[in-house]
Amino acid sequence: MVETTGEEIKDYYKELEQVEKKASERIIGLEREAFLKEYAPPTDTTLKYPKDYDPTFVEELKLIAGGERIDFCYQCGTCVGSCPAAAVTSFNPRTIRRMAQLGLREVISRKDLWYCTTCYTCYDRCPRDSKLTEIIAAIRNISTREIGIGIAHKEVARLVATTGMSITVTEKIASLREDLGIKKDFPAKMKVNEAAKELRLMWEQTDFMKIIEGD
Ligand code: SF4
Ligand code: SF4
Repeated sequence: MVETTGEEIKDYYKELEQVEKKASERIIGLEREAFLKEYAPPTDTTLKYPKDYDPTFVEELKLIAGGERIDFCYQCGTCVGSCPAAAVTSFNPRTIRRMAQLGLREVISRKDLWYCTTCYTCYDRCPRDSKLTEIIAAIRNISTREIGIGIAHKEVARLVATTGMSITVTEKIASLREDLGIKKDFPAKMKVNEAAKELRLMWEQTDFMKIIEGD
């Protein structure tokens, strides 16, 4: 058995640190650039209550799975204080929810409605068990029907429909994988491609494909 010396272990960790640093710089650089381009803060954040109050909006939300607990929020702010998306953008889940709770239908046209990553932190921490992540999903459902699905979500859904994966091996990712000494392609690619066929069938039958196809 070959013994590893302390110096070799130190060298290994040094090298690993360099690889990780390089990878994280490239990933952060890539995401931040795309992110800033796509997610500029909304220009109009003025609430117009009560002029735009739509009493049917809350009732409509309650009929969508996940929207039932729209009335439960008492605006404590725990959600926004815990939200990773709010930490780096202008997104405020409490505002989104408040607008919906007040029957301000214009909430469905806010670009930041699509900033939530559905991480479920707010869902876990809300003292009212108001299931905010699902409320946001319910508002997005109405938005998708009346305005259209968020751009980034549409792209991800298209990728899943065509490849079975939410992230494909772009040139940048392939070169990053090569730098890290791993295969350019995902070994499970064929399997997920097969699974994507079944998924497409289901999405065609539920008309979801119509939502994600086209511009
Ligand atoms: S944590 Fe819950 S109760 Fe508090 S503001 Fe957020 S949704 Fe409302
Ligand atoms: S589920 Fe959405 S709104 Fe809630 S903490 Fe996560 S990103 Fe924020």
